[in-house]
Amino acid sequence: MKRILLIFLLILAGCSREIENMNEKTEETFAETKKANAFLASLEDNFSKRSININAFCNQSDKVERRILREYGALFLATEKVEVPCCCMFESDEAVRRFQDSVRIMAEQIGDVKIELQEEAMKAYLAARREAEQEGLSITPRGGVEAARRSFADTLRLWNSRFEPACIYWKEKGKLTEEQVNYLKSLPIKEQVREVLKLEEKGIFFNKQFNGSILHSVAAPGTSQHLSMLALDIQEYDNKKVRKIMNKHGWFRTVRNDEPHFTFLGRSEEELPKLGLKRIEPDFWVPDF
Ligand SMILES: [Zn+2]
Repeated sequence: MKRILLIFLLILAGCSREIENMNEKTEETFAETKKANAFLASLEDNFSKRSININAFCNQSDKVERRILREYGALFLATEKVEVPCCCMFESDEAVRRFQDSVRIMAEQIGDVKIELQEEAMKAYLAARREAEQEGLSITPRGGVEAARRSFADTLRLWNSRFEPACIYWKEKGKLTEEQVNYLKSLPIKEQVREVLKLEEKGIFFNKQFNGSILHSVAAPGTSQHLSMLALDIQEYDNKKVRKIMNKHGWFRTVRNDEPHFTFLGRSEEELPKLGLKRIEPDFWVPDF
């Protein structure tokens, strides 16, 4: 009996050593990833402060979700004074509404447009506007109410405004068959995005001019930063002074090629490289991973 007990204890000791080794290995790998990638590390830090589960937030092994994070992910490093969504891709109108109902919103009449943003983002925008005014400049929403808050349906409509003409264009060019187009249209939206991105890898592009990625033209449905009410499109984006003032108040351009689009991070420019964002000339700040 004693011998059996001894063997059992020995096996147990062996197992726990193995588990310890495994733990060490996982921690080591994570530490390496953290070291290798400041963006993912700060995402993890920011989310642990907010009690959001980073693994549930974005499926890193899903090509579409990974791409979405790379294109629009800077938003998730916003200051804790605002809320960020707990998923990198909203899947329905209902999910977007639930998020928007859970945050503090501030509405403001700017000229003939009433825009809505998260409270801190709006305060910062209004402060930037006041500063610009003192220099004889203005910072105006671009494109009506859609300059700020958008709904899931808005993002779906915008996606279709690029997706549908591209289907017609590539069918006429003989690059897509009628069957392929019908198949694409029949897919649930996330799968449609997946197939569109696959076609773009082969040079069949879905942006307005059919020569670049649709993701640099409109966001995939459910992924627009405007859904978080932390994004604002402005008219005066090509004025460097205006961009500097926006930056000073925590607003940065974080989506490649989307020139009028600013994201509220509520951070200073010096903080951005440490957070794992890289600068792309002239002044875009995008996830470095
Ligand atoms: Zn925008």
